[in-house]
Amino acid sequence: MAKFEDLTSEEFTPARPELQAGLTEAIPEGEIPSRYINRYHADHDVPCAFCNKHTDHRRGFTVQMKDGRIALCGRDCAKFYFGPEVARDFEKKLKEEEDRRATASVIARAMRGVPQALESITDNWIANERAMREVVSSLAELVGRASRVPEVTSGGHLELREMRRRFVEREVGGVVRRVPVDEEVTLVRARHAGALLRQSEKEALQGARDCLSKLVGARAPENLSMLALKRIGEVRTSGLSRLRDGVEFLDLCSRFFTKENIASFSDLVWRLGVASNVALHRRKYGYELVVVSHEVKTSYKLPSLDDRPTERSISLLLRS
Ligand SMILES: [Zn+2]
Repeated sequence: MAKFEDLTSEEFTPARPELQAGLTEAIPEGEIPSRYINRYHADHDVPCAFCNKHTDHRRGFTVQMKDGRIALCGRDCAKFYFGPEVARDFEKKLKEEEDRRATASVIARAMRGVPQALESITDNWIANERAMREVVSSLAELVGRASRVPEVTSGGHLELREMRRRFVEREVGGVVRRVPVDEEVTLVRARHAGALLRQSEKEALQGARDCLSKLVGARAPENLSMLALKRIGEVRTSGLSRLRDGVEFLDLCSRFFTKENIASFSDLVWRLGVASNVALHRRKYGYELVVVSHEVKTSYKLPSLDDRPTERSISLLLRS
């Protein structure tokens, strides 16, 4: 089995294969190479070392003989002299190696951003997310107690709608009559309630940090197998997706937790038949959310969500 560790070395340019050091100009007829080193697509004609006429060509392979000589071989000659199966097999292995190297270089670039991305996901933000998850789940639980289920709009608002009947005058066959018209009206709307609907992903920022931490200790991608590279790629993707979840959750929270909106939310749950009252109060330290339900008062200090991290700023560090 051929080894490919020195394939496509950095000096090698597929457009200028003749610049590789130590090329043998002519290989005697009948000798076949033991491995292919790289393939090229030259931007000008280069001579083939294998055929008698040393045919000029642009697409071909750099090959190595058993004794170490290396030479250029046109693609057609490779098939002709070494047999189509050998040529196909070499080409397949080269393709795999090229893919592996391309993936390794993408992963390597992404991994360089990991330490900075990790620094951006601070303990403070992880604690803020945890605090907000607790508050949000208790509000979601209030909604869950209702006998009616509010509508969720495409914009992520919670609405309570009702059919209303009114009468309008219409002329029917020359006679003016009062006819009923039914229409749905929105009684109350709690805006940006998406955070309440997003209960599955727990503490996404912590998850993102755990994923990214795994990448810090990973070996240099250049030396890893395709399988190992794919695993690293998956960890990175998973980290990015949790990061996005966490940041979106905090974004939704910052829009949901306004005084007016919480008043609407309180109205909504009341109309849904949940005997409770929810209010947001401004305090010296920031905001406090007070939930009174069956005369039990629970209050939550809300962390400040100003200057929260943006998904874009962190994920940019992890893109190649
Ligand atoms: Zn040739």
